[in-house]
Amino acid sequence: MALLERDAWYDLARTTEWTPSYISQNELFPPEMSGGEGIPDDAWATYDEPYKVSYREYVDVQRQKDAGAYSVKAALERVDLYNTADPGWINILKEHYAAVALVEYGAAFQESRFVRWSKAPGMRNMATFGMLDEIRHGQIQLYFPHEYINKDRQFDWSHQTMFTNNWVALGARHFFDDVMMTRDAVATSIFANFAFETGFTNLQFIGLSGDAANAGDFTFSKLIQSIQSDEARHAQLGTPLLQMLIEHGQKDKAQNYIDIAFWRSYRLFTILSGIPMDYYVPLDVRESSFKEFMEEWIVTQFIKSIEDLGLSKPWYWDVFLRDLDEHHHGQQLGTYSWRPTLWWNPAAGVSPEERDWLEEKYPGWNDTFGKVWDVMIDNFVNGRPEKTVPGTLPMICNVSQLPIVGTPGRTLRDISIVHEGRKFHFASDVDKWIFEQDPERYKRHENLIDRFLGGQIQPPDLGGVLEYMGLGVISAGGDDAHGYAWVDKYRGKLQTAS
Ligand code: FE
Ligand code: FE
Repeated sequence: MALLERDAWYDLARTTEWTPSYISQNELFPPEMSGGEGIPDDAWATYDEPYKVSYREYVDVQRQKDAGAYSVKAALERVDLYNTADPGWINILKEHYAAVALVEYGAAFQESRFVRWSKAPGMRNMATFGMLDEIRHGQIQLYFPHEYINKDRQFDWSHQTMFTNNWVALGARHFFDDVMMTRDAVATSIFANFAFETGFTNLQFIGLSGDAANAGDFTFSKLIQSIQSDEARHAQLGTPLLQMLIEHGQKDKAQNYIDIAFWRSYRLFTILSGIPMDYYVPLDVRESSFKEFMEEWIVTQFIKSIEDLGLSKPWYWDVFLRDLDEHHHGQQLGTYSWRPTLWWNPAAGVSPEERDWLEEKYPGWNDTFGKVWDVMIDNFVNGRPEKTVPGTLPMICNVSQLPIVGTPGRTLRDISIVHEGRKFHFASDVDKWIFEQDPERYKRHENLIDRFLGGQIQPPDLGGVLEYMGLGVISAGGDDAHGYAWVDKYRGKLQTAS
């Protein structure tokens, strides 16, 4: 018997809509879970998912993707990448898996909430596939790093990180709880699918896959391409919702969602993508700088998708463009200095040749960030390594949960407000603005410094803080990825005559 073409039955089969008779529409789709207040009930059926697939097709394609990624992994196992690749690369893997794998699992919950609570039948259908996508992403990104655990305990963080109070995990959880786990279905889809996935996953998954292939890590390259091909599909869930909000007079709300989600995503990606791309990827295999990737994927492509919908660039666009030259360099200085608090071994990325590259990509780097590195290098060369690790904790932003950094001598300032008797600190005017959009949402959260000062971290010293963050418990904390070999290039030049 001939099968019908998908087009002939799809619209009928996915229209799982009915009129409830025992309970009200609001009981079936409570506004706090479903969102979309002010959009008429009959509008939801018009949600037309931009990507149509049947279950049979979906399973077949996903099986092929898995087969591709797993077979490349199996074929390359004998290459022994762990022992042959540059340590900077290996530590990108550690950072990536730990920051991403469990978040993917969380995203499966996000999608499953759409399956139940979205008022749009087309979206419920598409989110079912999105949920399966995210389960696959969680599983495969736990399985791939697992082979490295017996070589290096820091890979154990792939599974553990999101259960710890490591400062990077606090920042990531605060962000993903905000954009992915605690808003209604409409808001979540715009925050997480549209702003985060359409905008930023491209950066990590496409940006790094080229670098991975250049570095000979075809396993990782194939893996993240396979993931991004799923993201490219389910990220489209949010676009029809934005169109619906705009059509029903809620353009300001749509813009506000994007403005918040864009900045929060950007700040997290300065740590996840910014630092590795400009400092850890071995110089000879770097495809582009973080700023160049951002310009391609965010400034050009993502903004086009916003403007095509009739929305505008976020109000802080000038601040953002300036920040692209600065923030992640400050975070690199911070994370490298506080390397014992990391679950990976950071590469310094500031050998003379690497500094030439940084100066070329970020004119003025040597006169600003480079000056701080000069002091650090001087301490290494002259036998004072203890002076390169701070003895105190940094100020931390109450929105991003990341250290407050800026360009030395130029932009570093404390922005704070007192709200209901408590002082909150922010890394930028945009973070402060985000807090002020919804203080009720953010005001109870305590950042690492609040916890330290509040006595939750015992003993109240660096050892207590490290243990609180899981360092020395799950694995040792971070140290220079290359065992400080790069410092040798400065010896002779800088060594103080004795
Ligand atoms: Fe995913
Ligand atoms: Fe996703």
